[in-house]
Amino acid sequence: MIVLLRAGADVAAARAVEAALQRAGAGARRVNGGGRLAVESVAPHAPLGDETRARLAALDGVEAVLDGAEPNPRVRAARGPVEIATPLGPLEIGGAAVALAFGPCSVDDEDDLWKTASAARAAGAQLLRGGAFKPRTSPYAFQGAGAGALRLLRRAGDAFGLAVVSEAMSEASLDAVAAECELVQLGARSMACTPLLKAAARCGRPLLLKRGFGATVDEWLAAAEYLLDGGAPGVILCERGIRTFEPGTRATLDLGGLALARLRTGLPIFVDPSHAAGTRALVEPLSLAALAAGADGLIVECHADPGRARSDGPQALALDELEPLARACHRVARAVGREIKLCSVTCPPTTPSRRPSSALPR
Ligand code: PEP
Ligand code: MN
Repeated sequence: MIVLLRAGADVAAARAVEAALQRAGAGARRVNGGGRLAVESVAPHAPLGDETRARLAALDGVEAVLDGAEPNPRVRAARGPVEIATPLGPLEIGGAAVALAFGPCSVDDEDDLWKTASAARAAGAQLLRGGAFKPRTSPYAFQGAGAGALRLLRRAGDAFGLAVVSEAMSEASLDAVAAECELVQLGARSMACTPLLKAAARCGRPLLLKRGFGATVDEWLAAAEYLLDGGAPGVILCERGIRTFEPGTRATLDLGGLALARLRTGLPIFVDPSHAAGTRALVEPLSLAALAAGADGLIVECHADPGRARSDGPQALALDELEPLARACHRVARAVGREIKLCSVTCPPTTPSRRPSSALPR
């Protein structure tokens, strides 16, 4: 058990916690609680009961009593929608409306991105996704077009009224991603990279935290705890499939994990059906199942010409598949008491400003 003290709590508060632990029959030692004072109970200790927990929690300067039953107090206490800016005004994630993010795995061609943003908007998406820094299994695979891709993403987002989301893979790329994107993605491979989590928490943007494909729900929530503890203005969780023994899909979409996370936190939860599926034919059924299970949004890969995509082409929807997907999602969302704001019904028309013309390195 760790008793975490509030920022600014003094040594006297820590001593009072130590004394209370000793009275309950436990040893106590001071530890580093993420830069704040904290006291850990140490052996020999009888199991500390609810009464002791309550007594410790009520002491002056105590912020939280962390143990197996309550390892992530900020994640557990998190409530309400996360607000992200969009070129058309604020967007609430985790409210009544389900959000849609469409876009390519990686931004690899300017014309294709422009067509994609237009189709995403027409289908009702509020966000445009697109990788600029890509975590690839092979060092010889396309690693993303970097900062140039972020600029194209930004311009396409502005032209079509879409917020943009892209992954920051390292502390070095955080500032560039946060400068251009309303939502910063932390990928499955980075979920457990605590230095990146700490830095991302300070980047000033809401964060989309993907679940590692080998991470338990509690490990995923602990990563979110790092972000909230570090001051992140908003955290959206994203289930994207975990590794199982099934070779027919790229990963196994863990809807049980989604439901379990929902029990443990009020943070909004997205689902990425594309990386779970690995193949486009499975994207719609997984999307619908995710919404039925309570997802607050979907992030789906698509491409103007999936055969030419430089990453994840086999799982990318073609652009004419976006609107039928959004309509099917609309029906399921309504069946579970949510809504999707289909563009044809609610979006004001946008007039794309002048086309950008900066080519990406190939
Ligand atoms: C992605 O969204 O492009 C991506 C690489 O996702 P994940 O981190 O879930 O594999
Ligand atoms: Mn991808």
